[in-house]
Amino acid sequence: MTSEEQTVSLVDVLEEDEELEEEASAVLAGSDSDHCSYPQGYVKRQALYACNTCTPKGGQAAGVCLACSYKCHEGHDLFELYTKRNFRCDCGNKKFTDLQCKLCPEKEEENTGNKYSHNFFGVYCTCSRPYPDPDDQVEDEMIQCVICEDWLHGRHLGCVVPDCVELQEMICESCMNQHVFLWTYAAHLAVPGVSEAEVKEEKGTSDQEVATAIKKDEESDADVEPSCKRSRQEAEPDCRLKELEAIAQKRVQSGAVFWPSGWRSKLCSCSSCQTSLRESGLSFLLDESDTVLAYENKGKNNEQRQQGNDPLMSALDNLNRVQQLEIIHEYNDMKTELKDFLHRFAAEGKVVTPEDIRQFFEQQQSRKRGRVNTGQFYCT
Ligand SMILES: [Zn+2]
Ligand SMILES: [Zn+2]
Ligand SMILES: [Zn+2]
Ligand SMILES: [Zn+2]
Ligand SMILES: [Zn+2]
Ligand SMILES: [Zn+2]
Repeated sequence: MTSEEQTVSLVDVLEEDEELEEEASAVLAGSDSDHCSYPQGYVKRQALYACNTCTPKGGQAAGVCLACSYKCHEGHDLFELYTKRNFRCDCGNKKFTDLQCKLCPEKEEENTGNKYSHNFFGVYCTCSRPYPDPDDQVEDEMIQCVICEDWLHGRHLGCVVPDCVELQEMICESCMNQHVFLWTYAAHLAVPGVSEAEVKEEKGTSDQEVATAIKKDEESDADVEPSCKRSRQEAEPDCRLKELEAIAQKRVQSGAVFWPSGWRSKLCSCSSCQTSLRESGLSFLLDESDTVLAYENKGKNNEQRQQGNDPLMSALDNLNRVQQLEIIHEYNDMKTELKDFLHRFAAEGKVVTPEDIRQFFEQQQSRKRGRVNTGQFYCT
């Protein structure tokens, strides 16, 4: 990147109020967890906690967001639930008899769309044990099922746990049996399970057949010429799942199934498959951004953005939290000044360094401190 480009891109960012505000809130998010996620509704995926102090076993299950775990349940006995999809923060609602949410007290009595499991009472797996388990000396990895989102011991999956499980998604046996069409996909897409030798024998032919089925599908996708429309409508609608079902397969239908990365994109998304996925509450399987991996990558990107290849962001990062908060709260006041400051650099063709920006902010700070004694009510 040339210095000129860098200067221009900074100015461009400042031209866009919304964009800068987004950057500013990314800074806040990195150093501050003030906001309950409730106003966002059912969050696609978020870190969740259950509180054994407020909603112990025997009562109703409830889950709270990250910010609430810090601000409303400090010192409580919390269960870390890692991430779960499509959940709305319960903190302080009807399930909590005494506690009031400090961050978002205005909540409906209940979040009817939330799904709960025994994880919310601190037990996991088909064996319903706590984690870590004081009575279990066996070292065993816990793996999360992508459908029920329960955590299972590797040794309780009923299948061989493959290497590098981090990159693979797992569906537990009980979920496989609840949604039997998944066994069809498993035979063709998944990492060989229990009957490893048996599957390998078949592999050569079935791989080829899958390839043909997929190729056929791609061909018909490309087939969008108006003249071809009639013949397409007359033909049976293409369904990859139906084609796979027609292919003979040998896979023992037992145990959990591990799926290679990118497997979701190989699922059929024809309208009839979409309908049946929706009806079984599995539409998320067609959504690559639903995966924990995608969620983690998003988190990493946010972090990188804050730690900054961007000089403005790295300058903000070098300030302490009080300074950051002051900057964000008083951002509107100094927006114009900062813009002028950067335009000056652009006009002179100079590169803005993190040091320049830091000095600018420090000047701003000292000027403001002379005017009002800010910083006092942020106790860190
Ligand atoms: Zn919350
Ligand atoms: Zn609590
Ligand atoms: Zn709360
Ligand atoms: Zn177990
Ligand atoms: Zn499951
Ligand atoms: Zn289909």
